[in-house]
Amino acid sequence: MLKKDLKAIDKKYIWHPFAQMKDWLSEEPVIIEEGRGAWIKDIDGKWYIDGVSSLWVNVHGHRKIAIDNAIKKQINKISHSTLLGLSNVPATLLAEKIIKLAPKGLAKVFYSDSGSEGVEIALKMAFQYQQQRRDARREMGDVKKTKFMTLVNAYHGDTVGAVSVGGIDMFHKIYKPLLFKSIKAPTPYCYRCPFKFKMRDVRCEMRCLKEIERLMRKYHKEIAAMIVEPLVQAAAGMLVYPKGYLKGIRKLCTKYNILMIVDEVAVGFGRTGKMFACENEGVRPDLMVIAKGLTGGYLPVAATLATDNIFNAFLGEQDSKRTFYHGHTYTGNPLGCAAAIASIDIFKKEKTLQALQPKIKLLEMKLKKFKELKHVGDIRQCGFLAGIELVENKKTKREYSMSDKIGIKVIKEARKRGLIIRPLSDVIVIMPPLSISKVDLSKMLDIIYQSIKKATEVPA
Ligand code: PLP
Repeated sequence: MLKKDLKAIDKKYIWHPFAQMKDWLSEEPVIIEEGRGAWIKDIDGKWYIDGVSSLWVNVHGHRKIAIDNAIKKQINKISHSTLLGLSNVPATLLAEKIIKLAPKGLAKVFYSDSGSEGVEIALKMAFQYQQQRRDARREMGDVKKTKFMTLVNAYHGDTVGAVSVGGIDMFHKIYKPLLFKSIKAPTPYCYRCPFKFKMRDVRCEMRCLKEIERLMRKYHKEIAAMIVEPLVQAAAGMLVYPKGYLKGIRKLCTKYNILMIVDEVAVGFGRTGKMFACENEGVRPDLMVIAKGLTGGYLPVAATLATDNIFNAFLGEQDSKRTFYHGHTYTGNPLGCAAAIASIDIFKKEKTLQALQPKIKLLEMKLKKFKELKHVGDIRQCGFLAGIELVENKKTKREYSMSDKIGIKVIKEARKRGLIIRPLSDVIVIMPPLSISKVDLSKMLDIIYQSIKKATEVPA
């Protein structure tokens, strides 16, 4: 097959996700055919650093021998059998491993295929749990509990339930008539504080958390659960919370008898420097969603973890209507679960999190230099992820207009220099595999620096 044929076939038949296809069709697509470590190669033979971890999933690098072998070994036994009415070996072993790693209190694993589905499951579980406990609650007076609380700018996936608790207008607004209403609290976007405090102004005393309390005080009888991305709102533009904010939400959820759902899809599996972001503030959620990095970035497996308290509320006789009626065809797929077991084992064997700490420091150190760039407004880092917000005017924080496509311009410059990254509007995202070498990390940051400079300072 000729390379140019492949490009033509792509354009003829694929409708790409999150892409304006008019632009796609007018440009030359990059088609990836190989990967090794932190690098990926296209069909023209050009190698790039995988600075987006193949969409925030790759942990130990591509073609990690232990994961490759675990999948091959599993193929020689069985590639798929159902989890409906049966169990399988890798799904069973993985569930035990996950619970041993997870924050204390989480006791059961419900498998699914994507972060979005994991979120749908958490929402449905929380909803059904609250309805099944209505009798117990009636005495306390809060009988409804059918709503969810969420943050402005949240992203929890693109299925309809996940979009209902999302808040990114560009992605979600059009679907409004389809969505259930949720109660939205302001995001701690400190660079553009919703309460107009200046960055690091001590007088703020986390007004955003106080606003959550105000809303909970008012609506707690109606709220089944609050869903939150721990430590960072990722897709919103890597908005890093102030210290203590997540813990504060946990306390408020407990105080107002609201379940806490933590969405670790983007930040789980080492991204914040700990295995799960919750650990940074000692938070124990009632429900937790994991996906992306679970299989090391190999196969689509996700999971929703629940406490025994929640699980027990679903037990009953066949006719008690307490069954959780959810489950997809590939739920608990053995190949995916085998990959996940291998990936989790590597964390221990290779001391992945220990090896990551100096790279987090290097990232922090190298990011300082970006402040000098004329159009870098804010730099936000949490562990081994970062976002660089570009602004048209640094003093006034004026944003670029959408038609400037500034983020796209930067990533195109990066591509020319051998780096694949993806922006979130005007925020340049730094998300390489945890296993990237210090040399490659430095190279990646140098390329981003040059690319921002070129795209923002030189007239097109
Ligand atoms: N939750 C968060 C925090 C995410 O960042 C994402 C995807 O980026 C999702 C959920 C959805 O995951 P998926 O794309 O696997 O459905």
